[in-house]
Amino acid sequence: HLIIDNVTKSFGSTQVLRGVSLSVHRGITTAIVGPSGSGKTTLLRLIAGFEAPDSGSIMLDGKVVADGTTLVPAHRRNVGYVAQDGALFPHLSVGENVAFGLDRRKFGGRAAVRKRVAELLAMVSLDPDYAGRRPDELSGGQQQRVALARALAREPELMLLDEPFSALDAGLRVATRKAVAATLAAAGVTTILVTHDQGEALSFADQVAVMRRGVLAQIGNPFVVYTRPSDRETAEFLGDAV
Ligand code: ATP
Repeated sequence: HLIIDNVTKSFGSTQVLRGVSLSVHRGITTAIVGPSGSGKTTLLRLIAGFEAPDSGSIMLDGKVVADGTTLVPAHRRNVGYVAQDGALFPHLSVGENVAFGLDRRKFGGRAAVRKRVAELLAMVSLDPDYAGRRPDELSGGQQQRVALARALAREPELMLLDEPFSALDAGLRVATRKAVAATLAAAGVTTILVTHDQGEALSFADQVAVMRRGVLAQIGNPFVVYTRPSDRETAEFLGDAV
């Protein structure tokens, strides 16, 4: 369970988040939509622990991870993060990229690591033979799935996906989205997805949060948000977002 309470964040004189509150129950998928520059990525980075809020608090499963006095670093939060471009380590093989997320103390020998990497690749519908390849030998969609497998390796309780499919062409996008959604649902992982794609928000998410100029303008069931936007500006934005 994630609880964000009245979080603010400025960069220099620009206030990017102006009091965001959001509660996400375990196992739920939330899509965050909103115009460019409205603060979506910044919110994800605060949840992941890459940035600290100026005020307000973030709680993960009953534990404060960020407030005025506490800041739990990213590697101590049980959170996975997949950026828009996947950002694999180019000099490591696919298998090494995925193994990077593994807790080495849990996986004694190389054989155990190799087995777990193969399992994680299978979860994102990639053949274990890919483990020996370099990231640049893979298609964009395959690289995104490797990035997801690397994030899943940590067994996160919360997965943050920042436009993870936007670099893919339409066909690959649908196939990859389906594989990823099925994987996350099977593992029961709470997911927050930033997307520009209305179809993606409708098909992937249990709730949609509309962000605008650093606040959440509306949050609710995807169908309700798209058919009954709370105000004209939201309606116009959602209309444009098709
Ligand atoms: P997009 O849909 O274009 O990715 P977004 O809604 O994710 O946009 P953010 O990336 O959160 O928006 O950025 C919101 C604002 O904060 C932008 O004006 C951006 O320039 C600014 N910003 C974000 N990170 C930083 C930073 N590290 N330093 C300075 N300004 C920043």
